[in-house]
Amino acid sequence: MTFYSTNNSANIVSVQEALFNSLPQDKGLYMPSSIPQLPADFLDSILNQSLAEIAYKLTKLWLHEELTNAQIEELVTHAFPFDTPLVELEAGRKYVLELFHGPSLAFKDVGARFMAGLMSIYSGMRSREVHILVATSGDTGGAVAMGFHNVPGVRVSILYPKGRVSMLQEKQLTTLGGNIHAFEVDGSFDDCQAMVKAAFLDEDLTSAFSLSSANSINIFRLIPQSFYYFRAMAQLGADHAPVVFSTPSGNFGNLSAGVLAWRMGLPVQAFVAATNMNKVVPDYLTSGLYSPIDSLTTLSNAMDVGNPSNFVRLQRLFNDDFDHINQLISGFHFTDAQTVDEMLALRDSYNYIACPHTAVGLLGLESYQHSYVDNCGIALATAHPAKFSPAVDTIFGHSVDVPERLATLANRTKQAAAIPATFAAFKESLLQLV
Ligand SMILES: *Cc1c(COP(=O)(O)O)cnc(C)c1O
Repeated sequence: MTFYSTNNSANIVSVQEALFNSLPQDKGLYMPSSIPQLPADFLDSILNQSLAEIAYKLTKLWLHEELTNAQIEELVTHAFPFDTPLVELEAGRKYVLELFHGPSLAFKDVGARFMAGLMSIYSGMRSREVHILVATSGDTGGAVAMGFHNVPGVRVSILYPKGRVSMLQEKQLTTLGGNIHAFEVDGSFDDCQAMVKAAFLDEDLTSAFSLSSANSINIFRLIPQSFYYFRAMAQLGADHAPVVFSTPSGNFGNLSAGVLAWRMGLPVQAFVAATNMNKVVPDYLTSGLYSPIDSLTTLSNAMDVGNPSNFVRLQRLFNDDFDHINQLISGFHFTDAQTVDEMLALRDSYNYIACPHTAVGLLGLESYQHSYVDNCGIALATAHPAKFSPAVDTIFGHSVDVPERLATLANRTKQAAAIPATFAAFKESLLQLV
């Protein structure tokens, strides 16, 4: 398996190169040189299989030249000890795919844990410690911190926007210690992301550290995120209407992963790109014009992204054919007031407690199904509602049950370096870690 840069298709690299140097020097993004196609009996063969079992088969399609079957087995069983259950809201028509049963209670565990496992397979062969930089709008940081905590040969620096992540999200990023460092940036997520991108292009830093990224720009976070789209299909069984996935989106890694699954041969009627008021992609789908904005702060804060880093990948998955993108993907955006109403409506109609991001996904699905009736809709539930306490408690008027693994964090002490939103400040603090 090889990868090319979206800015230069002649820039071809190996798995290790794309894994550890996730951003090509030409500032493009890595994409697979070829996309494996599903064997004819694949979809029948995964019916009723677990996430780990399906991940095993799919990882083999991608990495059979690089890894032994035993390595793949070890990778997927360690990465995916949890499931992604499909919860029925309306039989045959409306489902929620819960992606938050991993340790950080958000779907980002899936990509982060697979990537961490793959890096630990290769890190033994490398002479230098790998230093992972990651910008987070809330959930990536926790998944990456937990996925990499105590992994030998790897150190992680996490940048997060001050005051824009929830209390429990912040605890997940800042309380592990050891090989995990947290930077509290006085700015937005976009600032954090720009600081990370600048670090990869800075010669002082790239010579002091063997830098790597765990953002959704790393192709090895994206590939495993395609696995749960297959897991959803496997739970529907053999007999169902054409499937529509609604993906609550920010950086568009999750949606790109769904489109990747479709490119491998997963039968999907349509995807819904559901966003909050950071609606550059829905606007693009309407107008054909892509106009990044400064990100707006919303209730669904993990989707507050004004210039989604995977947008280029999404286009490339359609060979940059706008009409084709527009045919397969429908975009919808929603205000915070609509999101709150939806959270209450989901509770009242289905007794289902959704986080704000998941509510945006369900709103997107409902908008789509308003126009297109005969389909089986699956909205992705991207995080557990308790991660967004106290905002969600205020909405529901009572506190949402906090799973044990999250509750224990509340008493731990935050350790983070507070820095202004400038690359110079970040560089200086990083160099102190040498
Ligand atoms: C990261 C995140 C999203 C957005 O996913 P992208 O892949 O960036 O589009 C949505 N919901 C939650 C809860 C998230 O953590």
